[in-house]
Amino acid sequence: MPGSNYKLLDGKWLAAQEHAAVQMEVQRLQAMYGRPPGLGVILVGDNPASQVYVRAKERVARKCCGFRSFNRKLTERASEREVEDTICAFNLDPAVDGILLQLPLPKHLDAAALLDLIDPTKDVDGLHPLNQGLLARGAGDLRPCTPLGVIKLIDLAFSELRPNAQTAAAELPCADLSGKRAAVLGRSILVGKPTALLLLERNATVTQAHSKSPDLSKICREADIVVAAVGVPRFVKREWLKPGAVVIDVGINRLPSGALTGDVDFERAAEICAAITPVPGGVGPMTIAMLMFNTLRAYKKRLDRNSSAGVGVRY
Ligand code: NAP
Repeated sequence: MPGSNYKLLDGKWLAAQEHAAVQMEVQRLQAMYGRPPGLGVILVGDNPASQVYVRAKERVARKCCGFRSFNRKLTERASEREVEDTICAFNLDPAVDGILLQLPLPKHLDAAALLDLIDPTKDVDGLHPLNQGLLARGAGDLRPCTPLGVIKLIDLAFSELRPNAQTAAAELPCADLSGKRAAVLGRSILVGKPTALLLLERNATVTQAHSKSPDLSKICREADIVVAAVGVPRFVKREWLKPGAVVIDVGINRLPSGALTGDVDFERAAEICAAITPVPGGVGPMTIAMLMFNTLRAYKKRLDRNSSAGVGVRY
């Protein structure tokens, strides 16, 4: 269904639906078990974008989902040992179900070594090697948040659901992508690789491209679904897209004017695609929503481990 009648994949709307569902479940479980889920957030340094993201995550956790949020802010010059100690304290804290180490870290810190220290059962960003390995096996509970958000937006694209106040995202069916070709541009451990694995799980035929891939325009033109996660403003052009494609723009790029833009030339791409995410307001809010989803999941698992009867919830 190409043309100007494209479906805008409104991540703000979908995220609000997800928050409401999480909050309802939190109210139910808190009444039974006496405590809400706890999210521990560690911010190291003064990166302005990270400060904005962390504030947004804490606000959604407390106000939209009913979590407790524990904030540890370390200076730009914090030593590896200080960050390790903060992670270990959260690992041991029974009120903390999920730990978020905000990336990027200052250059003198070893991000991979620090992520490895997070208790895998509290790894709500899904970046611990154990959770990444389980994802590669098609198993595991905690998957990276941005790729989970990308998949939910693809579900929205292939559903009859129209983003508006009258519809409920709880009714969003999981899209079976059998027979669909997907192109994922980017191969980072944060976005590109796990997104390709999740698309494979949904039976898509996936091509993973990167900076050394020749002829990206051809790879995109053959795809029914294009996920752009390269970090280059307006990289994906209208001419690269197959009419009727679903386009998910993960990129967040700040232009010299200060405006934010994605990795896709949105205005022109929208003329030809069936569905497309805006930037901002697409993948970004869904990344936060999936962090809440993962924290709720980690909390339920912990309740289940501590209660012989189990909490009787679906994961
Ligand atoms: P990253 O670690 O820098 O990875 C970028 C990937 O894009 C790499 O695999 C790189 O290839 C590839 N790439 C770069 N330039 C390319 C080119 N000219 N042609 C083809 N491939 C190219 O970035 P990331 O963490 O995955 O993030 C990607 C974008 O998503 C960024 O704009 C970031 O800000 C945004 N992001 C958004 C969210 C959200 O919530 N919306 C979350 C995370 C990230 P090589 O591997 O060959 O270098």
